Amino acid sequence: MNGPYVIVGAGQAGLQIAESLRHEKYDGPITLLGAEAHAPYNRPPLSKQWLRERRSISTLYIRGPEAIQRRHIDLQLGCVVNAIDRDAQRVRCADGRSFAYGGLALATGARMRTLALPGAQLQGVHGLRTIDDAEHIIAAFERCAAQAAPVVVIGGGFIGLEVAATARKLGLEVTVLEGLERLMSRVVAPIVSEAAAQLHRSHGVRLEFGVRVTALRGVDGAVRAVHTADGQEYAAGCVIVGVGVDPEDALARAAGLDCDRGIIVDECARTADPLIVAAGDCCARRRSDGSLLRLESVQNAAEQGKSAAAALLGHARSFSAAPWFWSDQFDVKLQMVGLSAGYDQVVTRGDTVKPAFSAFYFRGAKLLAVDSLNRIPDHMVGRKLLDHGLSPSPEQAADLEFDLHRLFAAGC
Ligand code: FAD
Repeated sequence: MNGPYVIVGAGQAGLQIAESLRHEKYDGPITLLGAEAHAPYNRPPLSKQWLRERRSISTLYIRGPEAIQRRHIDLQLGCVVNAIDRDAQRVRCADGRSFAYGGLALATGARMRTLALPGAQLQGVHGLRTIDDAEHIIAAFERCAAQAAPVVVIGGGFIGLEVAATARKLGLEVTVLEGLERLMSRVVAPIVSEAAAQLHRSHGVRLEFGVRVTALRGVDGAVRAVHTADGQEYAAGCVIVGVGVDPEDALARAAGLDCDRGIIVDECARTADPLIVAAGDCCARRRSDGSLLRLESVQNAAEQGKSAAAALLGHARSFSAAPWFWSDQFDVKLQMVGLSAGYDQVVTRGDTVKPAFSAFYFRGAKLLAVDSLNRIPDHMVGRKLLDHGLSPSPEQAADLEFDLHRLFAAGC
C-alpha cells in the first residue's frame, strides 16, 4: 500500500511505526494522531520512579516534539479520531478535521478497567494509565501524607503492586486488597507470588486476599473508606484501582474490522483490510496454531510496530522473540520472559528467601518461561534459551553450579 500513511495513537507502538517507516527509507507524508496532549512517552516509569520523584514530563518522552519534527513526522496532539471511513480512505477526528490515507495504522493502546461499584466516581479514586493520571496520584499521595491518611490499592497485579511499593517508599500507610488468593496470580507461579508477598509485608504493606470490594464510601464527595463483602471497612485517603486494562478497539470495531478482545492481526500486524495494520496493546495476534495472543508490554508494542511499518511498505515481517516484561517493586527487579501458561513443573534457581532466584517453567521437558527476581543473568540467558528453542533439564535449571550457557555449545 502507498502513502500517505496515517497512524492513530501516538504512544509506544504508534511512534515506532512512524520511525520504522523513516528507517525503511519511506520519505513521503506520515501523520501521527494522538488523543493526549503529550508527545509519545514511556508509561513504565509512571508507576515506578517517576511517581516518587516527579521529574519533568520531558524526561518521560520516548522522543521529544522537535526530534519528531526533524524526522518530518506530522505529530498532531489532542486529536481524538472517532471514525474510520474505509471506503473514502479517511479518518475523522472529534474536532472536525479529517485525514486521507493510502495506508492506515491503528495503535490505540488499552483503556483501564474501572469499578462498577457505588462510590467509584468519588474524588481520590484513581486508575493509572497516563501522565495526567500519575499527576493526580502524586497530588493524592501528598494529601494522604499531610493528613496521615492511608492508601488503599485495589488489585494485586503489577501496577497495583508497583504503586503500593512507591507509596510505601514515600512513607504512606498502604493496604492492597486482592480478590484472588495470591499476588500476580494470572501470570506467575505460587512461589513467585509468595516471594512478592513476603517482600511487600517486610516493607510494611498490608495485604488482604480473597477480598471482594462492594462499595467506596465518601464524605463531601471525597473517598474515605472501602467496603468489602465480608463486612470489613478499610479507611482510605485515596484509592488506587489496578484491575487491568481492555484493548482500545472500539474505533476498529465500529469500522467493521474483526476484533476479539483486540483488533485481530496476523503475525505480520496486518488486519483483514489490506490497507490497515495495527500494533501494540490494542491488538490480538492470530498465531500459526489459530490461537489469539494479547500482550501488554513495551517489547510487544515496539516489535509489532516494526512489523506494522514493514507491512505498510508491502513487506511481511513477523517477529518471534520470546515475550519479555519487567516490574520494579521495592529493591526487587522482577523480569519475565516467555509464556508460562500450561506449565506442569516449576523449579527454582537461587535463594528464594533473599529473594534472588528464578522460577523456570516447564511443560514436560520443554522450557516455557523464566521469571527472575534480582537475577538479571538468569533473565538474559532465559531469553537466549527461549529464542533458540533450547531447554535445560529441570535439574540443570535448579543447579546453581550448572552454567546454563553450556547449553548453547551443546545445542540441546
Ligand atoms: P499506548 O502507549 O497506551 O499508546 C496508545 C495511545 O493511543 C494513547 O496515547 C492513547 O491516548 C491514543 N489513542 C487511543 N485512542 C485514540 C484515538 N481514537 N485517537 C487518537 N489517539 C488515540 N510494560 C512493560 O513492558 N514493562 C513495564 O514495566 C510496564 N509498566 C507499565 C506501567 C504503567 C503505569 C502502564 C500504564 C503501563 C506499563 N507497561 C509496561 C505497559 C506498556 O506501557 C504498554 O504495553 C505500552 O505502552 C503499549 O503501547 P501502545 O502504543 O500499544 O499503547
